[in-house]
Amino acid sequence: MVSRVIPVDDFDLVIFGGTGDLARRKILPGLYRRYCSGQMPDQARIIGAARGDHDADEFRSMVRDAIKEFSKKNDCDDDKIEAFLKQLDFVSIDARGDKGWPELKGLMRDGVVKAFYFSVAPSLFGDIAERLHLNEIADAQSRIVVEKPFGRDLESAKALNKDLAKHFEETQIYRIDHYLGKETVQNLMAIRFGNILFEPLWNSQYVDHIQITVAETVGVGGRGEYYDKSGAMRDMVQNHLMQLLCLIAMEPPARFEPDSVRDEKLKVIRALEPVDPHHIVRGQYAATESEADYRTDAGDPRSRTESYVALRAMISNWRWAGTPFYLRTGKKLKARTSEIAVVFKDAPHSIFGPDAGRHRNILSIRVQPNEGITMQVTIKEPGPGGMRLIDVPLDMTFAEALGEEAEDIPDAYERLIMDVIRGNQTLFMRGDEVEAAWAWTDPIIQGWELRNDVPKPYDVGSSGPEDALMMMHRDGRRWREIKE
Ligand code: NAD
Repeated sequence: MVSRVIPVDDFDLVIFGGTGDLARRKILPGLYRRYCSGQMPDQARIIGAARGDHDADEFRSMVRDAIKEFSKKNDCDDDKIEAFLKQLDFVSIDARGDKGWPELKGLMRDGVVKAFYFSVAPSLFGDIAERLHLNEIADAQSRIVVEKPFGRDLESAKALNKDLAKHFEETQIYRIDHYLGKETVQNLMAIRFGNILFEPLWNSQYVDHIQITVAETVGVGGRGEYYDKSGAMRDMVQNHLMQLLCLIAMEPPARFEPDSVRDEKLKVIRALEPVDPHHIVRGQYAATESEADYRTDAGDPRSRTESYVALRAMISNWRWAGTPFYLRTGKKLKARTSEIAVVFKDAPHSIFGPDAGRHRNILSIRVQPNEGITMQVTIKEPGPGGMRLIDVPLDMTFAEALGEEAEDIPDAYERLIMDVIRGNQTLFMRGDEVEAAWAWTDPIIQGWELRNDVPKPYDVGSSGPEDALMMMHRDGRRWREIKE
């Protein structure tokens, strides 16, 4: 199979925060990969804009190092890297002052797509939007890309939306949730809406429950101070897990177009019931002989921030009434995995008698690593001995099924940046969606803060706190094993 790469239009992309961690780890190596694939036009330009008195050569040298450090080894070809670097420029800029803005204006070309990536702290979003406008650098066709976190509650998200709306239309604003750029997440929509097989069963009549797991093995690392102000609910659930929930639960949009898809996602969020306090567990990883606890990593011996959340979400609409969606995410768990599992109900009657056991169809969608889809089906155990049933996986791992083509699958950031250049907002969050998500999570977080809730400890390398297992147990269900 030969992958088809459709080049995008010529563009000037300005990366505010171009020397920062995210730009070096994800954005710039991602753009380099798109350059190598032939998707980036030869004239396209990438302009780093950040604090610090670097010149363009120093910036290129930093990007060269970043590509070598953060790209896959096979992607690094010295000639290609040098050719890519020629498309880069740099402006030393002060987001809150006057420095650098006239220089930036001087570098921008007319007649090409202009995109501005705000890879800086959200507190600078408003300042940058204002200066782009005042200095007449952005126009009505320009696009801006903003990173998470988009606020820390409903009020701050509204304020951010308002600041951006002073200078940009909603159709110009691309709020990134990189989970939506992942290949398997998009495949989720292809599976649901491209096959006739699943959709008739995709409702409370046939689905017992759904589990969405995003498990990490890493702790808070060097981000302790930032993370401690946020916690798993704000950092993961409000955005990534809720986006996955929306894609699983939404009604079929009329078309795969930005507002059709986002309207349907918004309806799901608005149909979420408040979470019952008995169906939410927060946890914090505890120390082992060899590993520090969360509080040490976060630098606050009394921290009550959660590094783990498990909860049961219920959607009040015709399709999903009565079907629980169990969401969980945590750090320092036993394996790194992101999985969505649709657990179907038992067959209404077993013709094989009580000895055949309980068997269930489960559709599991692995978002990462080892992206793929598995359908658990029940078959007869081979050989003599009567009708004994076993469950076997019908497994489709993308790397195996697609061969070399899987190697060329762009990572989430690459894909999303190219979508910005193409002007396609389908995989970006709309302002009202983000606000609705905060409106659902805010009361949960406020409840914890009011009660001064202490997260339950869990062992590093475990599946999470005991209470989360009990929560499922009380519902007569079991979490799926966390494994790679
Ligand atoms: P960082 O601290 O590593 O980099 C910040 C960048 O902003 C630097 O290039 C710095 O020069 C620039 N900057 C700071 N103040 C400035 C000013 N006044 N004027 C002009 N430039 C200024 O931050 P980061 O980790 O790259 O994160 C950037 C954004 O992306 C943040 O909103 C963060 O929450 C978000 N984000 C980061 C990650 C990640 O893995 N690093 C992941 C998801 C989201």
